[in-house]
Amino acid sequence: MLPEIVIRLIYNAYRKEMDRMFGCIFCRIAAREKPGKILYEDEKCFVLQDINPQAPVHLLVIPHRHITSLNEDSDQHKELLGHLLAVAARMAKQQGIDGTGYRVVINTNAEAGQTVFHLHVHLLGGRVLRWPPG
Ligand code: AMP
Ligand code: ZN
Repeated sequence: MLPEIVIRLIYNAYRKEMDRMFGCIFCRIAAREKPGKILYEDEKCFVLQDINPQAPVHLLVIPHRHITSLNEDSDQHKELLGHLLAVAARMAKQQGIDGTGYRVVINTNAEAGQTVFHLHVHLLGGRVLRWPPG
């Protein structure tokens, strides 16, 4: 049996190749080529209901621009990154979890569990979230 990290690295290489050949899932949802529940959209980003929610509120704040991860030129995307966080905070308020609490997460690369290589901010809340995360 291969170690989990090796399996993740192989799977991620496969996902990146599939994106290159067929287009990235988040870009396709934004273009309305694939279904997805979009709760908010502006010129810079959109907010998608996660298909496999890990909490009662689990939304993804996704830039329209295809940036593979936080590793990709983050210094050049400061304004956009700030906007994603501001939209996450606005959505937390809209979902009624700003008072009780919520978490924003950006998984980056294999050890952190990134599976979709189009930058996105997870917004999680509506239940007690444990620390440290798994
Ligand atoms: P990450 O593992 O940080 O890359 O997060 C990717 C997230 O995208 C996961 O929480 C998935 O459940 C979610 N996801 C994958 N495909 C879709 C989809 N078609 N619609 C909505 N969410 C998705
Ligand atoms: Zn994309």
